Amino acid sequence: RLYNELIEMKGNIRVFCRCRPLSSEEIARGCSSVVDFDPAQDTELRITSSDSSKKQFKFDHVFGPKDDQNAVSMETLPIVKSVLDGYNVCIFAYGQTGAGKTFTMEGTPENRGVNYRSLEELFRVSEKRNSIMRYEFHVSMLEVYNEKIRDLLADSSDHLSKRLEIKQVADGTQDVPGLVEAQVGSINEVWDILKNGGRNRSVGSTNANELSSRSHCLVRVSIKSESFVDGQKWRSKLWLVDLAGSERVGKIEVEGERLKESQFINKSLSALGDVISALASKNPHIPYRNSKLTHLLQSSLGGDCKTLMFAQISPSSADLGETLCSLNFASRVR
Ligand code: ADP
Ligand code: MG
Repeated sequence: RLYNELIEMKGNIRVFCRCRPLSSEEIARGCSSVVDFDPAQDTELRITSSDSSKKQFKFDHVFGPKDDQNAVSMETLPIVKSVLDGYNVCIFAYGQTGAGKTFTMEGTPENRGVNYRSLEELFRVSEKRNSIMRYEFHVSMLEVYNEKIRDLLADSSDHLSKRLEIKQVADGTQDVPGLVEAQVGSINEVWDILKNGGRNRSVGSTNANELSSRSHCLVRVSIKSESFVDGQKWRSKLWLVDLAGSERVGKIEVEGERLKESQFINKSLSALGDVISALASKNPHIPYRNSKLTHLLQSSLGGDCKTLMFAQISPSSADLGETLCSLNFASRVR
């Protein structure tokens, strides 16, 4: 509860910035880091532009290249945990392709990310509370590509053909009828489910990193809670979202399929930015219906739902323009 009170005091929207290390390939190409961190505090960073001018950005937390997945978990899991008290929680990773969105959310087998660690935390806490509470967890995984929703956990023959739509349910929340919901009873089942879902992401390009970067990948954990103390039952949702790459594509590449893709991505990312900034500024009109992404998340964004956005950036001088775009986007939603 203490964590929740702390979060409440700070409001329900938080923005973390995470900067990955320079890769050996970037170092070999002669790129340098344009990002400076203040070792004394962990909420600010400075960008040095090519004309040596400096620009400062402030976030709820800043993770530098030396901060590992554990450091990120320390700040993230308290927010995740509030889903067990009935709050809806959305966590996003935003940024250009290659900035570390998938590393933060999915991670690697050796360095597991927010998705796996969140479920691990939910199982750990639910175990601890098992004399007073009963929890049930279902995991779904879906993709939004060109404003179409696809079920990543459906059988491989099914997942391309099955068209999924968002429906309003009686209690005012949104649901996606027909979406596979895998019941998970222990953390051991989770990694394989997430890995298999990841394999079903949209194909359409020759470069492996490219294909996943053109779609949004959403993991939804639905939680049913029952209190043995007073018999109360409630439902809540945790959404873990690896967004499509935010980069502007070069004019020359932009034609045909690629043009359509990038228009859909721009539309949905700016719709997300509009929704979060409307929420942050307490604007009474929240434009949820402008994209599939925000419509899907409607009942998990706003109200007393908790939102966390990771603004993922590259430190490289070669990515300066995109880094500034991402930092400006993230500053706008805060
Ligand atoms: P994105 O999903 O935004 O396109 P990735 O997560 O695929 O970016 O990251 C690009 C590369 O950088 C990957 O090889 C990834 O392992 C590596 N990487 C990203 N973030 C980190 C980090 N914080 N520490 C170490 N390596 C990282
Ligand atoms: Mg990725």
